[in-house]
Amino acid sequence: MDSKETYIKAAFEKIIPLFRESGLPIDEIDERLQIKFADISPKWAGLCQSRISGYYPQEEHEILISNTIDNGFDAIDVLIHEVCHAIQFHLYGDEVRPHGKEFKVIAEAVGLTGKMTCASANHELGIKIKKWEKEIGVYPHEPSFAKMIERWIINLINYGGSFYILAMIVQYNTP
Ligand SMILES: [Zn+2]
Repeated sequence: MDSKETYIKAAFEKIIPLFRESGLPIDEIDERLQIKFADISPKWAGLCQSRISGYYPQEEHEILISNTIDNGFDAIDVLIHEVCHAIQFHLYGDEVRPHGKEFKVIAEAVGLTGKMTCASANHELGIKIKKWEKEIGVYPHEPSFAKMIERWIINLINYGGSFYILAMIVQYNTP
């Protein structure tokens, strides 16, 4: 696999039958769904932004998967969770709670379990994910050199900034 985007597209193809078999209308949303990797809040492993937009209103779903995820299993697990959100929006719009009873029905139908805010694969689904992981190939997680430099600079600015503020406070409080 040359990129995480290629990886996740391959993963999406794998999970389509899972949703179909559970009677969930994945084929009604797959054309309007985009999956990307992004630097999102560390609170979340993934995010699904759904909206209806355009002159001829159309549904759009954008799934973001955290760049911090470093293995295929978790990436596929998060993808399944986020696709459940897209399905929920397709069926109920934004009238219902993000992790409410409607979500629970969808999530459990495809094999997610646990607290719904972080529902992840049950044992049986875990076995399927491991199989798909093998079929797709190596998960390409390598922080690029540019990213490393970028992080280093950001840290430097952050720390530099704190020292500057601290210096100001010390100076201000010194008679
Ligand atoms: Zn969720």
